[in-house]
Amino acid sequence: MQKPIYLDYMSTTPVDPAVAEKMWQYLTPEGEFGNPASVTHAYGWRAKEAVDAARAQVAALINAAPKEIIWTSGCTEANNLAIKGVAEFYANKGKHIITAITEHKAVLDPCHYLKQQGYDVTVLPVGSDGLLDLTQLDAAIRDDTLLVSIMHVNNEIGVIQDIKAIGDIAHKHNVLFHVDAAQSAGKVPIDMQQMSVDLLSLASHKIYGPKGIGALYVRRKPRARLSAQIHGGGHELGLRSGTLPTHQIVGMGEAFAIAKQQLANDTAKIADLRDLFWQQLSDMEGIEINGSIEHRIAGILNIHIKDTEGESLLTALQPYVALSSGSACTSATIEPSHVLTAIGLSNEAANNSLRISIGRFTTEEDILQGAKLLREKITWLRAMMP
Ligand SMILES: *Cc1c(COP(=O)(O)O)cnc(C)c1O
Repeated sequence: MQKPIYLDYMSTTPVDPAVAEKMWQYLTPEGEFGNPASVTHAYGWRAKEAVDAARAQVAALINAAPKEIIWTSGCTEANNLAIKGVAEFYANKGKHIITAITEHKAVLDPCHYLKQQGYDVTVLPVGSDGLLDLTQLDAAIRDDTLLVSIMHVNNEIGVIQDIKAIGDIAHKHNVLFHVDAAQSAGKVPIDMQQMSVDLLSLASHKIYGPKGIGALYVRRKPRARLSAQIHGGGHELGLRSGTLPTHQIVGMGEAFAIAKQQLANDTAKIADLRDLFWQQLSDMEGIEINGSIEHRIAGILNIHIKDTEGESLLTALQPYVALSSGSACTSATIEPSHVLTAIGLSNEAANNSLRISIGRFTTEEDILQGAKLLREKITWLRAMMP
């Protein structure tokens, strides 16, 4: 059976074949399968060398030092370590945390958990373009504020926040700044020497690496302090215990090295394909783009299709095209996307919105065929409307 056209790169990406090829060399008896923590023999030494090389590759993409990279099981865990780790470590200093309403659940849920533990959480609104109001952020910071946590690129609408400006505000008040960079690493330039960021969460599977691995960047100068959330063995400077998954780590390193090399090319190609997709649809009536057009990454279109129920449209598109309504993380429930309602869409408009996201392996044929099918199904559904 032919597979559906994949237009859901913000949910996850396929592993780049060059990455898979490399991972394979760290699994089998012939490969470097050793435990990187084994210090008594060459199996361990070689595995550790591979982990160190990958650490340098990940650090290089964000212009950080390898020692500042802590491996985790993914961006969700990195966010948990950053937010709960800071809250716990600095609990005597204060109990206030600031975040934004359009954050991923992997930031909102740890904040919600802390609230139940007696912390005070301010959730800032965003404008209709999806951007944070920096004056509002500045005013929200208090004497007892420990942490500001704001994502770089939004996973549903692709809007890019001004991380440098937000970090400068946090640092002006001596408050730590955490960034969820799951959707920005490898897609927009990130420079830890230029941006006032203390903690930055990274994912591998949004940028052609394997699932189940991620990292937290922890600034060393000045040092951001954290309480570990997983104990047992003291790996990763005591911040995250557990045997390091060499093959996953090597895969993430390779994916990040490729991303660094291809960032400009990938972005240009993906932007062209995105524009081509929009060209095929933009003359239809009652279709508009959600979120800022100006401040957004290349690979995503979130569109509101009036009078066309999103779930019915997605069903009609099966098994031809794979894409999301709102975010994949909330598509298990029938609630409208919290991001789309936050930028001012009604529940109905949010439910009638689709996220189309494209990436490195998307072809012009995918775009033309996908857009043609989408047009057909919209027209068909609208004709059936009472
Ligand atoms: C995918 C994603 C996450 C979760 O990352 P995992 O590595 O899957 O745990 C967190 N934040 C954002 C913005 C994401 O897009």
